[in-house]
Order: sequence, then structure tokens, then C-alpha cells
Amino acid sequence: MRVHNFSAGPSTLPVEALEEAKEEFVDYHGAGMSLVEMSHRGPEYEAVHDDAMTLARQVFEAPDDFEVLLLQGGATLQFAMVPMNLLGRGASGGYVLSGAWAVKALDDGGHHGEVYAAWDGEPSGYTRMPEPREVEVRPGTRYLHVTSNETIGGIQVHEWPDSGVPLVVDMSSDVMSRRVPWGRFDLVYAGAQKNLGPAGSTLVFVRRSVLETTRRDLAAYLRYDVHAGARSLYNTPPVFAIWVMGKTLRWVRDRGGLAAMEQSAQAKAGLLYGAIDTSDGFYRSPVEEASRSLMNVVFRLPSDELETEFLTLAEDEGLVNLRGHRSVGGVRASIYNAMPMAGVEALAAFMAEFRADRA
Ligand SMILES: *Cc1c(COP(=O)(O)O)cnc(C)c1O
Repeated sequence: MRVHNFSAGPSTLPVEALEEAKEEFVDYHGAGMSLVEMSHRGPEYEAVHDDAMTLARQVFEAPDDFEVLLLQGGATLQFAMVPMNLLGRGASGGYVLSGAWAVKALDDGGHHGEVYAAWDGEPSGYTRMPEPREVEVRPGTRYLHVTSNETIGGIQVHEWPDSGVPLVVDMSSDVMSRRVPWGRFDLVYAGAQKNLGPAGSTLVFVRRSVLETTRRDLAAYLRYDVHAGARSLYNTPPVFAIWVMGKTLRWVRDRGGLAAMEQSAQAKAGLLYGAIDTSDGFYRSPVEEASRSLMNVVFRLPSDELETEFLTLAEDEGLVNLRGHRSVGGVRASIYNAMPMAGVEALAAFMAEFRADRA
């Protein structure tokens, strides 16, 4: 039996994609071997690879002047690759410090170029995203790095900064859940395991004109232009991860694409925030309303004891992985694309019942 899995990542995937992979796994389309045992230069994998790249472009409605890259190293390697490639002499990177992930991006960036905080959410406990006018960009800034959704803090950008410099966006935890304002972006990246597929692959979109100016004095794997020139087949790609990502992309496309995912995310998150807001303070959201995440809904209960009891009883009901990140505690419901409305309804009903029994 499948449970309702609210894990923040790796996280629930479309069961249709998993079933399909299972069917095809041991003997891939009659080849007498699995896809993960074949050459990545053979026709079978070539087709899988091209399919994933084409679907990514289609689903994300990426304009022609963007390159699609499928890399490894997770979003974490992008914390380094972005400044390595984009920050030449005299250029700096501004960072919106919105939470744990943004802080890591800035810290790693500091090893490879001049970086600074263009806004710091630490004084307000990372409970909100900045308003566009609060972001301060210095002269000589090559890009502004934004984390579109802070997976741990449960806050999301709903109004993009408009500081006049191109945006580089870590969309790891809300990728494929909303449309992308391509005009403002130079580069978007996302580790796969939150909404795109299994861990092991990282999706990057980079503006082609950017590739003409990236640094060349780097190890080959670290160069965006090398991957773009090789259609992300410079070295052996993460075959399994890309294969299942392709299935997830097709699942999203067949269900109406990003606009449909956006609608469904709003409906699902609306249900949980509604359960919080109508609980007479029994459930409490620590984040500001205008910055609430549609992907990671975090909330607190009146005491640690009640939180523990809540998590234990929820698990008995098949509502699992609701514990907040170890650094902040509380409850976190991650409701990515593949979390069905029925799962969210079951959680909202459980919240109401739990409160009625305790209040
Ligand atoms: C999970 C996450 C990361 C780290 O991703 P890895 O693929 O594990 O490197 C970075 N940024 C955000 C916003 C995330 O949610």
C-alpha cells in the first residue's frame, strides 16, 4: 500500500511514472537488458535523453535562447558552478539571503568570486521574502541570486526582485509547480529530487548569450559551455535519474503543464493554510502570510509534546514524513506536484480531528 508521503525531498513521485519504470526496468523494450546496463551512447539511451531534454523545454515553455542542461552534483554543485562560470574579474554576485539554502549558496559562492548579501532575512528569522524595493544591488553586479522557495523555512517568492540585473534562481523546491518569468532570468537550476524525479540529476536552464562569456579556465565538468556543446553527454549521465525525470515531465505535460500544476498547488496549499487559519491559534504558521510557500507548508502546535503526538498519530493514519527540518522543528507538509488532493484532504481532516480532541 502507498502512503501519503509528505517528505521534503527526495519526495513523492507520480505513481504512474514509477509503475511504468517498473514495467520497463529489467528488460528494456525487448533489448534483453535494462536501460541502466546499456551504453549511454547507444540508440536506446539517446532516445531517452533527447526525450527528457525536449520535454523539459516544452513543459517549462523555455524560449529558444535558453539551453537545457542535465547535470550531476545536485543544486549544491550549482552553488559553486554559478559564480565559477559567471563571475569574471571585477564582477560580483548579489544574494538574497532568505534562509538556509540561500546562505549555503552565498557561502560557497564566496570561494569563487566576490559575493555579498543584497538582502538579509536573518534579523526577521527568515520568516518572509523581501519586497522588491528592499533588495539592494551594488554597481558591478553580474547577477542577483534568488532562492525561489526556501524548503526548510516554508517561504516562497511571489513577487520577483526587479533590481535591473539578471536573476539566477535556485528553483529546487518549487520547480515545475509554476510558470517561469524567463525574461528576467539568466539561469535557473533545480536538483531533481523535490519535484522532477529521483535524486542524481540537476536541471539547468541557461541563456545562450551567457554561455559566450562564461569562464573557460575551469575543469571541463564545471563549464556550462562544455555541457551545452555536448548536449549534456560530455561524460556518462545519470541514466536512471534522467529516464524517470522524463516520465515525470510527460506526466506533467499530459495533465496540463505548469499552469495546471500552479492551480493545483494553490488549491492544495489553500486547504492546509485554511486549516491553520481557522484553528483559533491551535495551529500556527511561523511565516508571514504574503510569503507562504505553496510547496512546503510549515506549522507549529501549542507544545513540543502535542507536536510529537500529532506526528505519531498522523503516521498511524498513513500520513508520513511530516516532521519539520531538524534545524527548526515543528511540522512540515511538503505538497509537491505528485501529492494528490486526496492526500492533502486527508491531512486537513486529520488536523481538524486532532484539534477537536485536544482543544
Ligand atoms: C534541496 C535543496 C537544495 C540542495 O539540493 P541537492 O540536490 O541536495 O544539492 C538546494 N536548494 C534548495 C532550495 C533545496 O530545496
